[in-house]
Amino acid sequence: MSRSTSKSAYLSCGIISLVWLAFLGKVYAQQGFHDSVESRSLHVANTIEQINQGKFDKFEIHGLSRFDDEKKEVLKQWVKTGVNATRNALGVYPSRLIFHLVPKKSNQPVPWAYTRRDNPQRIYLHVDSRFPLQKFIDDWTIYHEISHLAIPYLGEKYAWLAEGFASFMQYQVMDKAGILDGTPEQHYRKKIAPHLKWFKSDLPPAAIARRLMNQKQYPAAYWGSAYFFILADNALSSQHNTSLARLISQYQLCCHARHGDVNQLMNDLDTLLGGSVMTKLLSEFEHQPAREIYPIEFE
Ligand SMILES: [Zn+2]
Repeated sequence: MSRSTSKSAYLSCGIISLVWLAFLGKVYAQQGFHDSVESRSLHVANTIEQINQGKFDKFEIHGLSRFDDEKKEVLKQWVKTGVNATRNALGVYPSRLIFHLVPKKSNQPVPWAYTRRDNPQRIYLHVDSRFPLQKFIDDWTIYHEISHLAIPYLGEKYAWLAEGFASFMQYQVMDKAGILDGTPEQHYRKKIAPHLKWFKSDLPPAAIARRLMNQKQYPAAYWGSAYFFILADNALSSQHNTSLARLISQYQLCCHARHGDVNQLMNDLDTLLGGSVMTKLLSEFEHQPAREIYPIEFE
């Protein structure tokens, strides 16, 4: 087990009470929370206490014994870089981050990865350790997988949204860490453009994305759904002078749950925000024709 520096956890503690006070005010002002204010207050107090005791910000790597000593160091360094970069963008994770490394010969450093949302949650990374450290760091996979854990498991019906979230966030995390070649916008356009054709439809985007998932058209489903978070981030920036990553880092401190209902997630985010960006956008994606939401092509 390895423990990353406690500096950011310490800095985070200073803002926790401010965030929480602002949050509590909104809770009182807005109805619709499933839990009582007392139970949420207790939960946050508990989380702060545990952060102060150094219980979070930890990560574990399993499976290292299957690699030689030199490769072990490269892989440890890579996972540490991934954890620090993701935490830097999305805040302190209120749960342990557990990684399982599996050797796999391939033409890329991380040919396959997935996240299991059981208790405890685990990230599985299949790696070809013949690649040098920089190739691992430049690969988007680890940032994508850790991003998944910043929001609750939303169930099969919203797998498209979860993948859109992680796909959007991987480039936000890499950009903030100075790892990304080019801007996130350039990457989004390049990834989404080939799939815009699916969204020239009178069906709502949520129905299209679900169908694409069922048909195993994963790049189309993932990147089509990432557009939800591009719109969310744009609205948060123009209307509330914040960003989705910043909102998520506040959410992780106050309200994160391992399993959650999509409506509760969007409600919680809007409550933190003091607005209705996320609930409104989800409603549009569920009910409005996709052709009214997506561009025909990017300029
Ligand atoms: Zn994913």
